[in-house]
Amino acid sequence: MANEFYKTGDAPDFYICSKCKRKHVKLWRPEGSSTPLICATCAERIQVKREYDEIFPYGFEGQSYQPERTGRRIEAPLWYVDKDGLIPLSRFTPGPDGKFPMTDKLEVDGKGYYSAIYPAIPDDDGMYCCYEKLPEDGCTWWRELPTHK
Ligand SMILES: [Zn+2]
Repeated sequence: MANEFYKTGDAPDFYICSKCKRKHVKLWRPEGSSTPLICATCAERIQVKREYDEIFPYGFEGQSYQPERTGRRIEAPLWYVDKDGLIPLSRFTPGPDGKFPMTDKLEVDGKGYYSAIYPAIPDDDGMYCCYEKLPEDGCTWWRELPTHK
């Protein structure tokens, strides 16, 4: 039986950010744990800064993409979670279009307890769906929750 709130768009009572107590927003959790639940706004404040290799802005045409590195390291801009719950995957060199691939896994400073948080999508047993096997309707429900509020 699928979760009723997947259909209604509501969030269960326990679905509250552990840090700022925001309700009815997308939440993330450390892998294998149901706490803490963290909203996008709180995750942005504890994000891990990343550097990447600077590449020359040419060589993006043709079939084979051969990025040429300048040898400089660049600090990736701070990320903000978008409306779909995604951030740029900033630990990699940008793709041929100059953009970073996107991910819903957020790299944060969990003070040694966790280093990444994943979409927290409640299942029917009061637990959370495994990141590797997220149900389609659960993902839709999560994506449609506001990211910021
Ligand atoms: Zn929060």
